[in-house]
Amino acid sequence: MNNNKNIRLRFAPSPTGYLHVGGLRTALYNYLFAKKNNGELILRIEDTDQKRLVENSIPNIIEALEWSGIEFNEGPHIDGSPNGPYTQSDRLDIYKKYMLELIRSEHAYVCFYSDDRLKELKQSSIAKQSAAEFDKKFKGVNPEHAISKMETENCVVRLAMPADGKLVINDLIKGTLKFDYSLIDDPIIIKSDGFPTYHFANVVDDYSMQISHVIRGEEWLPSLPKHVHLYNCFNWDIPAFAHLPLLLNQDKSKLSKRQGDVAVEDYIKKGYLKESIINFIALLGWHESNNQEFYTLEDLKSVFSLDRVQSSGAVFDIQKLNWINQHYIKKLDSKTILELSEYYIPSNWEVSLDMIDLIKEKLSNFSNIETELSPFFIKPNTSKELMLKKYPNTDFSSVIPSLIRKFETHQVISKEILNEIMNSVSSETGCKGKNLWQPVRFVITGQDHGPDLASFIAIIGLEECIQRFKNAQ
Ligand code: GLU
Repeated sequence: MNNNKNIRLRFAPSPTGYLHVGGLRTALYNYLFAKKNNGELILRIEDTDQKRLVENSIPNIIEALEWSGIEFNEGPHIDGSPNGPYTQSDRLDIYKKYMLELIRSEHAYVCFYSDDRLKELKQSSIAKQSAAEFDKKFKGVNPEHAISKMETENCVVRLAMPADGKLVINDLIKGTLKFDYSLIDDPIIIKSDGFPTYHFANVVDDYSMQISHVIRGEEWLPSLPKHVHLYNCFNWDIPAFAHLPLLLNQDKSKLSKRQGDVAVEDYIKKGYLKESIINFIALLGWHESNNQEFYTLEDLKSVFSLDRVQSSGAVFDIQKLNWINQHYIKKLDSKTILELSEYYIPSNWEVSLDMIDLIKEKLSNFSNIETELSPFFIKPNTSKELMLKKYPNTDFSSVIPSLIRKFETHQVISKEILNEIMNSVSSETGCKGKNLWQPVRFVITGQDHGPDLASFIAIIGLEECIQRFKNAQ
């Protein structure tokens, strides 16, 4: 397997908007497999469905891939790549050549109907017959005659699938798969706009680009027999196939936009670190036998293998992503955190490294930083009604003045000094334990739980702290 020349993989996104997290996983697994086996990875843009194109998707997808650290050996973005063009709409001549070959060998046939005509036919008397079934009447038309008519008439080209028999094929993840050819309609390979369909362009390109392994999402499994049949029609070697498990929402339905973000760029915008995204995505359907949870991209390159990819669906658990991101943020020094999260912090806040030191344990992504830092900058709401409701056992009319008096006698604060102050407030007012500590924390920070209180006070300053006591009077 470790033969440089033979191991070639590709990631083949369609430019329909953005890089989907499932797409990133496919790209990552292709990359890791290529790296592990000294192979090469190619980026190919599959834009044959012209109706679904979204402007700027290609640069967006490339940008997200580059951000992630996945590197390609060839692609539309790499000068001097030898197997181009890498965008399917630039390869129409290539498809045409192979299309003619298939028509001439009678593996494909031309059907002379416009899309509108097909629609009309579907709705009319032959509604019960599928379009593919109906089109079979064009099978057997003399190939040269059909080819000459193609220039002037609206038509599609269909691949003639075997009428019966079974395809038995091994998938590197799913194991042995069986398909019944009699259940598969003759697929369109060239559309009426002259563009190839996904099936045709995909197979021609995988062959032309000498792809040895196709690793892609499970949603492409139904296409497999059509693809294999195409390889057989041309007498081409069939690459190895590996279909990755579906990504699922928490409720086990197919991962969808409705239940959360699915675009990689949304996670980038939310301030997730690329180390975390890669780590998290790698574990969506793959893990080692020891169930290790943390991996760098470098680690993954040496340990990844398709044998450990599960065949059943993988749940996209955002809590796990947050947990992983928290792990990587904690490892950063506060200066780096401040630099990376600047974008998420209101510009009029003067954030110090001490503040970051105090909150970094709790940060699960940078877009949370404003919330985590807000106690330093925003005075808590400590209205009488709220305090009474939250702390019915605390007599604020004695506790607050006592706190103010004690605080005013100090210039600095430390854990010991704070304890000393609280002890003396306690003996002066009779309020103690959680009836004292909980409301005091709330009056100072606006939070029920939080970082070490003395450190927090040291950062906001004693004067500000006294001000917050006064607000609660
Ligand atoms: N263009 C397809 C996609 O967007 C590629 C499928 C394949 O890898 O064969 O997922």
